Amino acid sequence: MEIKGKNAIVTGAARGIGRGIALKLAQAGANVALVDLGDPADPALTYNLAAQAELARTVAEVKSLGVKAAPILADVTRFDDCKRMAREAADALGGVDILVNNAGIIAIGMVADFSEAQWDRVMAVNAKGPFLCAKACLPYLARAGGGAIVNIASIAGKTGRAGAAAYCASKFAVVAFTQALAEELGPSNIRVNAVCPGYLRTAMWTEVLNKAAGAWGDGAGDNLEKISRHGTFLRREQTPEDIGEAVVYLAGAGNVTGVALNVAGGAEVH
Ligand code: NAD
Repeated sequence: MEIKGKNAIVTGAARGIGRGIALKLAQAGANVALVDLGDPADPALTYNLAAQAELARTVAEVKSLGVKAAPILADVTRFDDCKRMAREAADALGGVDILVNNAGIIAIGMVADFSEAQWDRVMAVNAKGPFLCAKACLPYLARAGGGAIVNIASIAGKTGRAGAAAYCASKFAVVAFTQALAEELGPSNIRVNAVCPGYLRTAMWTEVLNKAAGAWGDGAGDNLEKISRHGTFLRREQTPEDIGEAVVYLAGAGNVTGVALNVAGGAEVH
């Protein structure tokens, strides 16, 4: 599928990996609706989510590449928001051909100490969000005669790790959802794939995992630097641009569906 001129929705697009994906899609010539929560304070989390100013900045960056760009405030855990997101994106861009389910959160802690509220919120954003966004966008993808959904899972969706049970369970769910939906939507010419990023220097690491002691590091110094140096074949961390390139590939790859592609420098090979 030719990406140029297509219309894409990217959730969690204000910063980090979502920003990288939006910029790569725009460089490939796609118009982009950039979706984010618009409220940094999530009571289940120990770190701030993106502010509206970050979303506005990223929208301006995407626009400067010569494509249409529209900001949309929506919580991917609310179906009404997801339906409005799809409608506003279609109105602003002219349709929806590509949905990238990138919005995600992390909360860590051993199961014995982890609260039910934290578990529920991680599952709601990471696992239910892609379901609701896909469901809301399906009529538009069908109207376009087909298209692509790319879900951002994680290498944590391939191997479970201590201290991150909820996050890992949510990402395994994303991989399974990807496979099931790919089979369901194949006859409608809608391809569904996932990207499993490895280790990236975004808020999840700088604000959460880099401060953790235990399974994720010693809490002293740069856990990400140590883990990406010792835990990958390529001895380095990944970047939002790496993930954006994989998304552009999967969005366009006309005969690829149901895969969960690791972009992890060899940190996960299955
Ligand atoms: P991030 O915190 O910088 O970005 C996440 C974005 O999602 C933020 O802009 C946030 O405001 C938004 N968001 C959160 N909850 C939302 C909601 N309910 N509705 C709408 N938007 C919401 O983190 P990131 O590292 O860029 O994460 C992006 C994706 O990549 C996530 O799905 C994450 O699980 C995945 N991932 C990250 C890594 C990594 O090393 N950073 C590795 C593997 C997978």
